[in-house]
Amino acid sequence: MNQREKEMVNFCIRQSYLSKCKDKQNAAILVSADFQQIYSIGINGGPIGGMQCLCFKNRMGEKAKYTCAHAEMNCLVKNTEISEKPKVMICTQVPCQMCATLIVNAKTNIIQVWYINDHPDETGKTILSDGGIILRKIDIPDLTGFFKGEWCDTQAVCDRLNIPFEIAITMFDFSSTVEWWSMIGKTDEERKRNGQKVTTQFRIRNVIQADVPNNDTEIRELK
Ligand SMILES: [Zn+2]
Ligand SMILES: [Zn+2]
Repeated sequence: MNQREKEMVNFCIRQSYLSKCKDKQNAAILVSADFQQIYSIGINGGPIGGMQCLCFKNRMGEKAKYTCAHAEMNCLVKNTEISEKPKVMICTQVPCQMCATLIVNAKTNIIQVWYINDHPDETGKTILSDGGIILRKIDIPDLTGFFKGEWCDTQAVCDRLNIPFEIAITMFDFSSTVEWWSMIGKTDEERKRNGQKVTTQFRIRNVIQADVPNNDTEIRELK
């Protein structure tokens, strides 16, 4: 992905955090095929000004007959750019069969659907491919461990957070380990190879410990 595409994908992911649905949080955005223009944004949810989530009948968590309107549906219904200009829909999850049908039927020339998470039911994928729409799965590194304070590959962190290495290294703890291939090789051929394998990792800094001054110490110093 180029920088512009990454920005759009990250924008779509961040939009999904705005969903008030109690079941899942999804977003879909409709962009021009050159990723220069955003035409529409949709997140899953209830009607504007009404219930924020329609997925449950009551507070006991009993599922309602229908769910929230899906992100793709909202994205399509809010889109006012009805034209032959080729467009791409970016979705946080593979469209379900209903949304896939709407994407195929939409009179606005959607040529590709990019998605991040898979859906247990793959009918939507089949509908989209049968409708001549190209599907692309976006592989995004999972940073769950990183946010819990574990070391994580620098490339994955930079890609996922969409920040250059030079900036990231000022924000996170950095570690670099070097393994010589000649030493770790299992066969003669592997051991003969020259070179080294460098592993670079980032870890979230413990800002709270580093930056919050100890009040007791400060008072003693003032006296
Ligand atoms: Zn809901
Ligand atoms: Zn759907």
